[in-house]
Amino acid sequence: MKSRFAPSPTGCLHIGGARTALFAWAWAKKQKGSFVLRIEDTDVERSTQKSVDAILDGMNWLGLDYDEGPFYQTQHFERYKAVIRQLLDEGKSYYCECSKERLSNLREELIAKGEKAMYDGCCRNKGLSFDHHKVVRFKNPTNGVVVFNDAVKGKISIANKELDDLIIARTDGMPTYNLTVVVDDHDMGITHVIRGDDHINNTPRQINLYQALNWNLPEFSHLPMILGSDGARLSKRHGAVSVMAYRDAGFLPEALLNYLVRLGWSHGDKEVFSLDEIVSLFDLKDINKAPASFNEEKLLWLNQEYIKNATPEYLIKHLEWYLNNQEISTHNGPALVLVVESLQQRSKTLLEMVEGLKMFYQDFDVFDEELANKQFQDKVPLKALVKKLKQLDTWKSDEIKIIIKQVCDELGIGFGKVGQPFRLALSGNGNAGNIDTVAELIGEETTLKRLDRAIKYEC
Ligand code: GLU
Repeated sequence: MKSRFAPSPTGCLHIGGARTALFAWAWAKKQKGSFVLRIEDTDVERSTQKSVDAILDGMNWLGLDYDEGPFYQTQHFERYKAVIRQLLDEGKSYYCECSKERLSNLREELIAKGEKAMYDGCCRNKGLSFDHHKVVRFKNPTNGVVVFNDAVKGKISIANKELDDLIIARTDGMPTYNLTVVVDDHDMGITHVIRGDDHINNTPRQINLYQALNWNLPEFSHLPMILGSDGARLSKRHGAVSVMAYRDAGFLPEALLNYLVRLGWSHGDKEVFSLDEIVSLFDLKDINKAPASFNEEKLLWLNQEYIKNATPEYLIKHLEWYLNNQEISTHNGPALVLVVESLQQRSKTLLEMVEGLKMFYQDFDVFDEELANKQFQDKVPLKALVKKLKQLDTWKSDEIKIIIKQVCDELGIGFGKVGQPFRLALSGNGNAGNIDTVAELIGEETTLKRLDRAIKYEC
């Protein structure tokens, strides 16, 4: 068993592509087969190295490892030419000299008559020979029906009279998608073609090519579209569609994979899947026929679940990228593991976590003015707090908590009246978790220094 992911490098790895890759990958893993990555870069004008790199980075970040490849179609031109030659020699394809003008007139005529715009086979029996102005067309069978059993969509039949003679080589000799994909899927021994259903109309044409070449057919699975919140096909205008934009926004790869696997596939009511579970439970037959809707809220919820349940060590491995990016050094300050632990339950994304951990390793310049003017108005609670904190023997959160409580009791005020200014004093913006834990982690010296600064704040 062998599946493949065959992206065209004309942009980043997007959500839809990543889902296709994940399904093909999961099916290969489940079947103990192999998974191939093939870069379909024959459109040299639109393909870029930058996109190739973006696809490889995306696959790598997601952890979708491939057993073979990456293969590049541009390295197979000789092979495609040989197959086109063979089809010409066997009389299964032909040179066509129809001009663009003729084809566009034909198209308009057919449309005007309310018919399907198709090539009329004008050059099919002319026996034309090669020259640089001619394309090569495949002689699609003129009668009969192409029938295949799509693992997702079920039985599909298309009458051959609905299909025209497909161009398999352009005037410059460049092979076209339907030809290259068939040659490579055959040569690479692909048994399962899993791809977006935007290709479903190509499949009958590809099947005719397989048959003309006497090659075995793979099994086809066409995945339903992914829709944006407005019901239109997911695209850039719905927000981030690039996989790496989700990395940048602080998502964990496992959370994104978990989210993607549920886009068009389900296993009962289960929502949270480890990678191992994805592999063991995934089945092509459980893919929905209907389109799936992309829901960023749900992705965020899953990300939070993953952050909550991960080990701090695992989170630190992923946090490193953001810390390097923002040049945050965590060497001078509390152990990162402890800080991460203190933030895990309250961070929806790794970016939020990075924001939250800054106060432990960096000083801030100014207090949030609006909050400070409110919370630092009355200096009495902060002064009482400092006085008691200075008498503490052991700088531990439990002790600090008791002191906060004592201040509240002595002044006859609620916890918020002490906790809030304390939190603002330490964080600068009020965004901090358990204030006693935060104070313990920040340490006695910094805590007292920041409290002092808060007391001196002029409202
Ligand atoms: N290269 C095609 C694409 O990116 C996919 C071809 C296929 O999976 O057959 O849309």
